[in-house]
Amino acid sequence: APYQGLLIEAEYSRASLPRNMIENSMFEEEPDVVDLAKDSTFPALDPDEVVYEPRSSRLLVRGLGENDLDDEEEDYESSARLLGMSFMNRSSTRSPSASPYIRQAPPRSCSRPSARMLVVGVFILVLVTSMAMVLYFLPGCTFTKTGCPKANSSTPMELVYPKSTTGEMFPWNELRLPASVRPVNYDLSLTPNLTSMTFTGRTIINMIIQHNTKRVVLHSSEINIIKATFQSVEVKVLEYKPWQQIAVSFPGDLKEGQVCVLTLDYTANLSHTYDGFYNSSYNDKTGAKRVLAATQFEPQAARKAFPCFDEPAFKATFLVRITREPEYIALSNMPKAKTTTLPSGMLEDEFEQTSVNMSTYLVAFIVANFTSITRNVSNTLVSVYSVPEKKEHTQYALDTASRLLQFYNTVFDIDYPLRKLDLVAIPDFLAGAMENWGLITFRETSLLVQNQSSLLDKQLIANVVAHELAHQWFGNLVTMRWWNDLWLSEGFATYWQYASLMTEFPQLYLGNVFLEERFKAMAKDSLNSSHPVSVSAQVTTPEQVSEMFDSITYEKGASLLLMLNSTLPDGQFRKGLLEYLRQYRGSNTVTDDLWNSITRVAVQESVSDMMRTWTLQKGFPLVTVSRKGGEVTLTQEHFLLSTDNTTHTSSLWHIPVTYVNDSCSSAPSCRQMFTLRNKTATLKVSESVKWLKLNYMNTGFYIVHYGDEGWTALIDALKTDVSTLTPHDRASLIHNIFSLSRLGRVSFRQVLSLLDYTTNETETAPLTEALTQLSSVYRLLDKRPELRLVARMKAYILGHFGPLMDSQDWGVEESVSSQERRSALLELACSLGRKNCTDQATALYEQWTNSNQTNRIPGDLQRVVFSVAAQSDSGWLSLLDTYRLTTYDSEKRKILQALASTQDPRRIVCTVLEGGIIHTQELPLVISTVSDGFAGHLFVWDFVKESWDRIIEKFPVGSYSIQSIVKSTTSQFSTQTHLEEVQGFFSSLKERGSQMRSVQEALETIRLNQHWMDRNLATLRDWL
Ligand SMILES: [Zn+2]
Repeated sequence: APYQGLLIEAEYSRASLPRNMIENSMFEEEPDVVDLAKDSTFPALDPDEVVYEPRSSRLLVRGLGENDLDDEEEDYESSARLLGMSFMNRSSTRSPSASPYIRQAPPRSCSRPSARMLVVGVFILVLVTSMAMVLYFLPGCTFTKTGCPKANSSTPMELVYPKSTTGEMFPWNELRLPASVRPVNYDLSLTPNLTSMTFTGRTIINMIIQHNTKRVVLHSSEINIIKATFQSVEVKVLEYKPWQQIAVSFPGDLKEGQVCVLTLDYTANLSHTYDGFYNSSYNDKTGAKRVLAATQFEPQAARKAFPCFDEPAFKATFLVRITREPEYIALSNMPKAKTTTLPSGMLEDEFEQTSVNMSTYLVAFIVANFTSITRNVSNTLVSVYSVPEKKEHTQYALDTASRLLQFYNTVFDIDYPLRKLDLVAIPDFLAGAMENWGLITFRETSLLVQNQSSLLDKQLIANVVAHELAHQWFGNLVTMRWWNDLWLSEGFATYWQYASLMTEFPQLYLGNVFLEERFKAMAKDSLNSSHPVSVSAQVTTPEQVSEMFDSITYEKGASLLLMLNSTLPDGQFRKGLLEYLRQYRGSNTVTDDLWNSITRVAVQESVSDMMRTWTLQKGFPLVTVSRKGGEVTLTQEHFLLSTDNTTHTSSLWHIPVTYVNDSCSSAPSCRQMFTLRNKTATLKVSESVKWLKLNYMNTGFYIVHYGDEGWTALIDALKTDVSTLTPHDRASLIHNIFSLSRLGRVSFRQVLSLLDYTTNETETAPLTEALTQLSSVYRLLDKRPELRLVARMKAYILGHFGPLMDSQDWGVEESVSSQERRSALLELACSLGRKNCTDQATALYEQWTNSNQTNRIPGDLQRVVFSVAAQSDSGWLSLLDTYRLTTYDSEKRKILQALASTQDPRRIVCTVLEGGIIHTQELPLVISTVSDGFAGHLFVWDFVKESWDRIIEKFPVGSYSIQSIVKSTTSQFSTQTHLEEVQGFFSSLKERGSQMRSVQEALETIRLNQHWMDRNLATLRDWL
C-alpha cells in the first residue's frame, strides 16, 4: 500500500530529534469511551445497521464518551488554566531573547482567504454538508432495524433506496457492492490532455452474472458519463454520488451464468489531489515547468479514473490503451504490445492484457517524459524510471530491486508472474511508494540516491524497494478480501522488507530499525484508541478505510509475524507461508486463512489458537515476573495506559514467553521458551539463578515487569558487565522500564537508576532508545512552564552522554550502525546547543559552502549540519536556494528538515504553501518537524486549525498524512487548557474529521501527558 511510515515518521523522527516515542505515545491515557468505542468492533452491532450506518454514529458513540469525561475534569480546570496562562506568558518572555518567536496569527500573508471569509466559508460548508448528510443518510437509516426506527417505522418501503442525481430511485442502498455481478475483464482506453488537464475514457467491462439480478451496480466518482451501452443497447445510468456508485436497472432478470458487456464513455478532470488519475508537475533543470499524469488508486480511487467494481475481491484482467502526444511516454502494469499513430498525430499505446487477475487498486498508468535504465533478471525486465536529469541516481534502486526480485522468487517459491517490473520516481507523489503490479510508483526521495551517498541514505531506498517488491506476492498475488484485513498485505510487506534486507543486505543493519518500529507500534497499541490488527467490522466509509493505513496495520502486523517465526521450529513459518501462497494465489483471503495454512504444516500446537489472541484483540500483554527461590510466577494483564491506574485483566493472550538467565544469556542457544496461556503460571528455575531476562531479543510483542528485586538484579548485572545481555535486550530493558513508568508501575527514580549503566553503553540500539525516551520527556517539559526542570533535564542528558557526544568523529564513517549512533548523538547534542557540536557543524557547513558544495558532508551528518546552519537567517536562505537547485534527493530531504527546524516557522510553512519550491506533498513532514521545536509547535497547531479545510482538500480525512498532522501537532500538549482546545476544535469539524481515530488518540495522549506530569514532576524535581 502507499508506504509512508519511513518517510514521515520512522526515518525523520529518529532524525531531527529522536521523536518517535513522543509522536506515538507514551504518556497517554484512556478516555472513558472504553467499551463503546473500542468494542465497537463489535459484536453488539446489528449487521444490518453496520451496512447502512454512516460514519456519524461512531462519532456519536465516541462523543458521548467524551462528554462523560468533562465532569470529572472540571476539578482540574482552574489550576490547568493557570498553567495555560503561564505558558502564554512564557512564550512572550522568551521571544525577544532566545528566538524571534511570537505567537503569530497563522500565516495570513500566505493564505489566500481572509480569516473572516474562512469562517463564513466553513460555516456555509458545514451547513450545506450537514443538510446534505441528513438528506442522503436519512433514507438509508430508515431501513435499519435499530438505527432510527420509530419515527419512520410506518414509512413505505420505497424510501429504503436513496435517490440518484436525476431524482429517480437508485437501486442499491449499501456502501459495499452487491455480489450478484462479477467483472471478468476491463478494456480501458484513456486519452489524457496535459494542457487542459482533462481526459476522456472508454471502459468496456465484461462481466458474469453470479445470481439472478435486475441491476448492475459499480463505482464511479467525479466522472461524467456521456454514453452507456449494455449488450450494445444504449442504457440509462443512475448515479448516487455520496457513495460513489452508478447503476443500470433492468425490467427483467439478468440470469445467473450470463455473460454481459457494459460500455461506458466518459470525460473527467485530471485530479488536482494525489489520488485517482492526477496531474503532477515539476521544474526541470532549466526551470521550465513540466507536467505529467500518474495514478494512485489504493485504496478507493480507481473509480475516479474509470467506472469499476472498486473492491479488492473483484479481481479481473485489464487491457489498457493510452493515447499520448509524441513527446511523452506511457507506462502501465503490462509491457507495451503496440503503438499506433492516429490521424491526429497522437500515438496510441496498447499494453498487453494482464496475465493475472488483479484488484482494481493495483491498476496504474503514467504519461510523462521519463528516461530509464534496465536489466534482465530471471526473465523479468527490471527498469527504473525518473525525470531525465536524475537518470544517474537510479542505479542503486536497479541493483537493489534486481537482487531482491531473485531473493523473493526463491524464498516464496513462486516466480514473479509478469515479464516486466518498473520502478518509477514521480516528482509529486504523496505516499512513500505504491505497489501497483508491475509498475511500482515512488516518491523521488524513496527511490533515487547517488552512488556515493552514505549507506544510511541507501538504507531508506532499500527499505521501500524491499517493501513494495514483497507486495507483489503479499497483496498483489494473494489479496485481503476487504480492507479490515489490510494487515495481510501491509504487515507482510513490512515484515519481509526487514527479513529480506537482513538476509541479503546485512551491511544495511536493518535490525535496529525494525526494533524501533516495534517499540513504536507498542506505543500506539497501548492506547485505548488502538484497534485489533484484524478489524472485525465497521470498515466501510472511505475514512474508515483510509485509517486502516496506520502503524498497527504495518508495524504491529510485522511484529506479530516476527514473533510467530521466532516461536515456531526452524523453517515451519516459511513452510506455512508457502502453503498459504500456493493455496490462495490469484484470490483473496481473511486472517483465518493464513493461520489455518500455517497450522496445517506446523507440527506443534495450533497456530490459530495462539495467533487469534493477538490479531482479534487490540493491545498487548504486560508480563509480570515474581520469584520465590526456584519458583517463578508469571502473570499477564493488558498493558493499557490510563489515568486511573486500574489493572486490565479481561484480555488473555497465548504468550510465547522466552527467557535467558545469568548463566547463559546472550547466545541464541541460551533462549528457553514457555507458553503463558492463562492469567498466571509458574515455571521452575535453579535456585542459583541470579536473574532472568524475558523476551529474548525483544522478538515478542509484550512488555515485562521484573518487580523491584528483579530490576535491581538486572541493573547490577549490567553495571558489572554491559555485554552480559545482547544490545537488543538492553534496548528492550530501557524501553520496558520507560513504558512501566508511564503505566505507573515503576517510579521515575527506578528509570534513572537503570539509565546509570548507560554511561558505559556504546551500542546503537540501547543508546538510541535511551536518547529517544529522554528527549521525548525533555520536549514535553520544554512545552510547559518548567524552565528550571528543562534546564536540569538538559544537564542530565548532557551529563550522561556529553562525553560520548564530544568523542564522535565528524569524518566519513563506514558502518551504518555507527552512522545511526553518531547521528542520534550529534543531533541531540546540537539541538540542546552543546557548543562542541554546533562548532563542528558550523565548520563543516562552511567548508561545504566555501568549496562550492564539492567538499561533501558525510550523509549521516548532513541533517545535523544543515539544521545548525538553518538557525541563522543567511544560512536559512542559502539552504533554500540549494534546495531549489539540487537534484540530490536524499540531500534535499535533509535540507527540508533543516529548513523546518527554524525558529521562524512562519516562513517555512508559507514557502510550502506558496508551492513552486517545495511540493505540497511535504507539508506533513514540515509540520511534524516544526512542531518539535518550542517556537513552532503552537504556531503549527494554529496553522492547522485555520487551514484545516485547505489541508483536507489535499490530504484526505483519515489518511496517513492527516494522522501524522494530527499527532505531531497535538502530542506534546499536557495541560487542561490545551486538551479543551484540541477537543473543541476537532468536535467542531463534524464530518470533516472529528470521527477520526487519530483524534481520539490525540485526546488520549494529552490526558496521559497531563496525568504523567501530575505524577512525575515532583520526582523529576527531586532526582534530576
Ligand atoms: Zn505497503
